[in-house]
Amino acid sequence: MSKLTLMAVFAHPDDEAFGTGGTLTKYAAEGCDVYLVTATRGEAGQIAEPDRATSANRPFVREQELRCACQIYGIHPPRLLDYQDGQLTIVNQGQAVGRLVRVIRELRPQVLITFGPDGIYGHYDHIAVYRWATIAAELAADPGCFPEQLEDVCQPHQVSKVYFRTLPETQIEAMAEEEGKPAAVMMDGVPFYFAARPEDDITTVIDVSEYVEPKLRGIQCHATQVGRNSRFSDTPDEVMGEHWFRHEHFALARTTLEPPREVETDLFAGLR
Ligand SMILES: [Zn+2]
Repeated sequence: MSKLTLMAVFAHPDDEAFGTGGTLTKYAAEGCDVYLVTATRGEAGQIAEPDRATSANRPFVREQELRCACQIYGIHPPRLLDYQDGQLTIVNQGQAVGRLVRVIRELRPQVLITFGPDGIYGHYDHIAVYRWATIAAELAADPGCFPEQLEDVCQPHQVSKVYFRTLPETQIEAMAEEEGKPAAVMMDGVPFYFAARPEDDITTVIDVSEYVEPKLRGIQCHATQVGRNSRFSDTPDEVMGEHWFRHEHFALARTTLEPPREVETDLFAGLR
């Protein structure tokens, strides 16, 4: 069996932090090869603290924040697809899929994690990445697809499991209760509500209790996004103690293995 390899594909720096930072850290700590592919530098993101970046240097600053986070997680440096933030629905979709097919064939992950069709809160960039990554995972195994890639070292590769990052209903309800209103991400002054997954859809729960400190420090690397007054600044014990922070939830979307009969606690279940 070749080395266990995990590849995550997201749209923006910080997309990995809240829902998968603990998982990336855990598998890196266990000796797996862990890669993060990020489609943009997040230059369209709103800046929580204006002194941290200008609109001119925002792509550079956010890339550095992502590099900082990857170091904290102990994973490989991020791979950037270099697309423009906010523009993923209008780039050439075939080319974007081809680029991801190539990365999959090169890194050869058994497990791939990405967004589900809900895009967590319906962000168009997230939904575009969901489509590219799920299509690419399928095409990477097919030698008839992008055959020009096979002329060099790049060979077809079958991803064994594709997971969607998910937010369970209970978490969304807890967030709503805490804030006294439905949980949402504000974009251009408008609330985009989080999409909750029913508990039954969640196939896999990763206990990241041992890794809450690096997870929090990874979040804090994204300083332009996490304001100084945020509940994630400093080292808030109440955040690190919360159940949702200590567990990360996934839905197994595609697998070449037997579907699991009970809730998995390991993304590589059946592959070890
Ligand atoms: Zn995002």
